[in-house]
Amino acid sequence: MVCTNNSFLRKAEILSIGSELTSGAQLDTNSQWLSRKLAEIGVATGWHSTIPDDVEANLNGFILAASRAGLVVITGGLGPTQDDLTRETLARLVGVELVFDEASWVAIQDLFHRRHRICPERNRVQAYFPKGSEIIPNANGTAPGVFLIHQGTIFVALPGPPREMEQMWTNEVRPRLLNANLGKLGFGDGFLSRRTIRTFGAGESAVEEKLLDLTRRGADPEVGITASNAIINLSITARGADQADVQAKIALVEEIIRDRLGDLVFGANEDTLAEAVGLLLEELNLTVSLVESVTCGHTASLLGAVPGISKWFAGSLVLYRPEAKDNLLGYPKDLLQREECVGPETARFLAKAVREKMGTDLGVAVVGYAGPGDGGPGRPAGLVFAAVDDGSSVTSEHTQNWHGSRSEIQHRTALMTLNLLRLKLLAIKADQISCQNMPSKEVP
Ligand code: ATP
Ligand code: MG
Repeated sequence: MVCTNNSFLRKAEILSIGSELTSGAQLDTNSQWLSRKLAEIGVATGWHSTIPDDVEANLNGFILAASRAGLVVITGGLGPTQDDLTRETLARLVGVELVFDEASWVAIQDLFHRRHRICPERNRVQAYFPKGSEIIPNANGTAPGVFLIHQGTIFVALPGPPREMEQMWTNEVRPRLLNANLGKLGFGDGFLSRRTIRTFGAGESAVEEKLLDLTRRGADPEVGITASNAIINLSITARGADQADVQAKIALVEEIIRDRLGDLVFGANEDTLAEAVGLLLEELNLTVSLVESVTCGHTASLLGAVPGISKWFAGSLVLYRPEAKDNLLGYPKDLLQREECVGPETARFLAKAVREKMGTDLGVAVVGYAGPGDGGPGRPAGLVFAAVDDGSSVTSEHTQNWHGSRSEIQHRTALMTLNLLRLKLLAIKADQISCQNMPSKEVP
């Protein structure tokens, strides 16, 4: 085996097969997903290769991968058509013939019948496997996968469609690899896991300033910072001898991060601001309504991704023209003259008006200039105002001056509006808790 880097650890190679990938028609997301999953079980990925549907290109790619990687994970090319070459290439590489597996053919036919379709005879090729290989069943599609070990290199072939590939990896391949004891085979340096803490409300450097001891190079666990649309993600990566060890290390760092960043943190991993808002509204048993101009319903649309929204969301008014604001919410003429529909007072007014009109506990409004044009002198594109009214005398409000394209400004403004609402709900929750904790006067 050729070892092309300084490490003595064996590495994986991911081969993505398909002319739709090399031509750029389709983005190769499988490699990204698989690299992350391999890292979780302590296997480093050394190479990503993308190969078109061509016999020579496939064989050369497989030979090169076998020469340098200890584990080769192939996705794609397991379909029934002539350009699906993975089964054949594997058999040629290993120097064996393809053999028919009756049980797989029955399973493929069954899948067609369950979908009320006639099984074409050409799908029969999907029931052929390199002699001596293990068959990996596919619960979501017709193409079974292949698992084989040749001259010490493990080959895993999975179908291209991500939904099929991911399910097969998780339920079939991962357990097989763990059983094979990767550490002994020269791969892993233990288990690896990652957890992402999601924050909103401060910039990347302001967040990092609070965590410099954690984000320095070589820290264990590693903490990395990435920004995406004003959301700052902190990914904690830990290695350890087993999952319990890794999880304990991550939990410790997560606690420190949450402690230092306080209410900047809105969730973890795939959590969204909309979900955080939905959870709080549900927990506090409160309802909300919205009026949007600059975001044109995008804030409501983000909330719409949360299941069970109708328990706490009355609706959103998308109002642009001043007449519409006046007709529906009685937008005053003098305020129009002062702020021309965009300003802090307008946001406060609309938040209160929509709350009253819709009869909700909270009303939220957001107005601004999405650009690219501005609203006149001192009114640049990206200037936005949001307000949350809860019926008390103090309205929560936020002004921001974003830079970016129209869609970036709209998206960040919607997130900012949700975050303002989240902070208001956290304050309401804290108030409730402190009231509950007040010593009762009756106690002697
Ligand atoms: P089948 O033909 O039975 O669907 P297959 O194993 O032959 O399975 P491909 O034909 O190579 O898979 O790919 C089928 C589809 O799966 C592609 O059109 C593409 O949408 C998706 N796909 C394939 N490879 C990738 C990849 N690397 N990343 C993301 N999507 C992929
Ligand atoms: Mg195919």
